[in-house]
Amino acid sequence: MQTYADFHRRSLVERDAFWAEQAQRIDWQTPPQQICDTSRPPFARWFVGGTTNLCHNAVDRHAAQRPTDRALIWVSTETNQERIYSFAELQAEVECMAAILREQGVGKGDRVLVYMPMIPEAAFAMLACARIGAIHSVVFGGFASGSLATRIEDATPALIVSADAGSRGGKVVPYKPLLDEAIQLSSHKPAKVLMVNRGLAAFEPVAGRDLDYAAARAVLQGTRVPCEWLESNSPSYTLYTSGTTGKPKGVQRDTGGYAVALAASMDYVYGGKAGETYFSTSDIGWVVGHSYIIYGPLIAGMATVMYEGLPIQPDAGVWWSLVERFKVTVMFSAPTAVRVLKKHDPAYLKKYDLSSLRALFLAGEPLDEPTARWISESLGVPIVDNYWQTETGWPLLSVANHIPGVAPMPTRFGSPGVPMFGYDVRLLDENTGLELTGADQKGVLTIRYPLPPGCLQTVWGDDERFVRTYWTGISGQQVYSTFDWGVRDADGYTFILGRTDDVINVAGHRLGTREIEESISSHPAVAEVAVVGVADQLKGQVALAFAVLRDASRAATPELAKALEAEVMKVVDGQLGAVARPARVLFVSVLPKTRSGKLLRRALQAVAEGRDPGDLTTIDDPSALAQAKALLAPAV
Ligand code: ATP
Ligand code: MG
Repeated sequence: MQTYADFHRRSLVERDAFWAEQAQRIDWQTPPQQICDTSRPPFARWFVGGTTNLCHNAVDRHAAQRPTDRALIWVSTETNQERIYSFAELQAEVECMAAILREQGVGKGDRVLVYMPMIPEAAFAMLACARIGAIHSVVFGGFASGSLATRIEDATPALIVSADAGSRGGKVVPYKPLLDEAIQLSSHKPAKVLMVNRGLAAFEPVAGRDLDYAAARAVLQGTRVPCEWLESNSPSYTLYTSGTTGKPKGVQRDTGGYAVALAASMDYVYGGKAGETYFSTSDIGWVVGHSYIIYGPLIAGMATVMYEGLPIQPDAGVWWSLVERFKVTVMFSAPTAVRVLKKHDPAYLKKYDLSSLRALFLAGEPLDEPTARWISESLGVPIVDNYWQTETGWPLLSVANHIPGVAPMPTRFGSPGVPMFGYDVRLLDENTGLELTGADQKGVLTIRYPLPPGCLQTVWGDDERFVRTYWTGISGQQVYSTFDWGVRDADGYTFILGRTDDVINVAGHRLGTREIEESISSHPAVAEVAVVGVADQLKGQVALAFAVLRDASRAATPELAKALEAEVMKVVDGQLGAVARPARVLFVSVLPKTRSGKLLRRALQAVAEGRDPGDLTTIDDPSALAQAKALLAPAV
């Protein structure tokens, strides 16, 4: 058996041969003439000259082989509906949607913005765009008009696909008024808006602009729309990053490289097999939804579960009931969702037959050890952390335990794993730009040129921003910066210590917020914690912790809070040393997060330093910040 390290090395040293083999996983109309064009760094072009189509690879080729196999399983616990589409049925719906788009004059290279709840029509729209070579730009349905308007402005779509409403926790959330307002706010106006009417919220169509999906579908059903063969480097979509550190960046993805990278990751990383079922609990508005609700599983010939609803509705067992019913083999979620479940009785997990499930993958933010242990023990399946970004499109760090002839690697709590094939990952000293090769040295996680297939091509409409943002950050080195801070152990496992923006400098000691958070969350009373660095006259910076308790009564009085604060500080002293001890531990009921569930440390830090928190368009619950502010008023 080969070691994974050898396998990984070969993917870099014999780069073109490696990816030429991987390219066999998908159908090409014309095979690639060149595997990787590196003539214009930092840009890279993969599978040059090859023509292919994402929709063909995700839908048509499976519909031809196994037309009645399940492709899309939609379950809504919001509206108590479900629909199951075979590959043949999915193809018919996608062709019909493509016919509607085409009739409206949408063609190759045109942008289509998708502002939709988690309903099958959203998947049809994405795949229909891919089919005709239009570029989709999905905007998370939870965003309000301001965030939507800036994205309309940036993507300049010819058409927008939307719906009357979404639903969250049983409450109808009308989309149409937000969309109308966003279009009003934006200087770009789409020619047409295609409305899916779910019958949840009444709305007034705008004459001459708004089209009814059901009416158009009734007319065009059965229309055949062939796949448009696209050169591998044709853009397939744009998608904005979560906006955790500031203004979101419009990530642009290619076609062929993305399809190949997803196909390879579905096999080697996730171990998904055609005919099985994949369940990702993400949303189509995020990169995980693009790669591992829609494209990845379908390209692999798997059925994919699209779930509309909360993880705890009707009860905290709902996901596991779906695992049992649909014999889910691979599942993908986020630590933030697991923390929600953790507040409920683990008996909900034991109620269902989970024997089909092989592994649960988690990504999106640091996976703290207590959460990982809890879910792993409750489920009885391996938990695999994977680290990546909207920019990369697929995991950069994980363990790839499904490669034939390659020895599997154990996972290690607290670490997402090792660099995935194709990624030449280096840790660099932030100031000198020098590579850190020894164990336990902290540095910025970077990727050497070229980025592997599937990663961003550029920032939409702004090559200069792509170069400036990602490739020039570290003392003139031409490397891609992830802006995450990490450390590698002697066996090559990488631990993410936080974002480079979040590194705290206490009296000359550099600490990742993540290190302190990990330590604090090991205290049994703590459910969740955010640590930020705050300017301090004496020490340069001090750490400030905001913690959510498992049981809020533990800090019900100022005396109790003070005692618990001292306890938490003692834990940090013991694990990391007094230098890492937060100046204050404040107990809150909720932490400020982005809509994708990421901690908004930047906003907490600004509030703690009495500054304006800046762009808050992606914040989920603004009251979280108000709470922190109120607590800080007497403290700072
Ligand atoms: P923006 O770039 O707009 O500030 P964002 O970085 O939050 O937003 P995403 O692309 O959605 O947008 O998130 C990627 C980031 O999430 C990573 O750079 C990293 O900081 C964090 N992350 C993702 N997965 C993990 C993981 N498994 N462990 C630790 N951190 C993770
Ligand atoms: Mg980012």
